[in-house]
Amino acid sequence: MRKYHWIESCTLIYNWLSEVHSLNIKNLIKTGIPDSILIHKLKKQGSCSVLFTFDDGPSPEFTPVVLKILKEHQVRAIFFIEGQLATSYPGLVRRISEAGHILGNHSYSHSHETRMSSQEFKADILKCQETIVGITGEEPSFFRPPGGAVSIASLAVAAFNRLTTMLWTIEGYEWTQCRECDPNLIGRQMVSRIKGGDIVLMHDNNPKVPSILNLMLPKLKNREYDLAHGIQHT
Ligand SMILES: [Zn+2]
Repeated sequence: MRKYHWIESCTLIYNWLSEVHSLNIKNLIKTGIPDSILIHKLKKQGSCSVLFTFDDGPSPEFTPVVLKILKEHQVRAIFFIEGQLATSYPGLVRRISEAGHILGNHSYSHSHETRMSSQEFKADILKCQETIVGITGEEPSFFRPPGGAVSIASLAVAAFNRLTTMLWTIEGYEWTQCRECDPNLIGRQMVSRIKGGDIVLMHDNNPKVPSILNLMLPKLKNREYDLAHGIQHT
């Protein structure tokens, strides 16, 4: 697993911000952002590892079901926790951690960075961080911005607070209301698109996700993907 070297990362952040302050995010990714600041795919592209990530929980209805399915298929995931939900359901946060998964920071209020001042954004991230530490004693290392909204400012705020921003490469859009949102169809489409090195985004507060996982995970394991060690390739 990636180790965080604080002074080294501060230097990287400073140098990187000096170079790229005028570029947008798509160009930023092309410039090669240090992986201590932004992860948008696993390091070992083309390997057999796939990392599952779950946003917007914990959910009392669906997170326990998701945990059960992940255990059955020996999947180790990152759960990007919404701080205000963690406050409501601390027992679920502990269960996720005790099941061997990684807890990530998905902000406290799930407000987009674009709708807040940088001070408010920083306070929202730190409040989520403090909530998770208060419940589990575990300090998250990864931050998933609400809506995937990333800017130089948001990357810098996260990085200066010892959080690596993590995006994803594959999602099922199970949260949309589209006609194509039949869980089996979503699952089949995702399986056909997933390849080694992918970071998969799902939502453990969504009623379709257990069905999608039940369809996908056996097929991915049949294709000999490693769903337990992706975190080691971040
Ligand atoms: Zn979210």
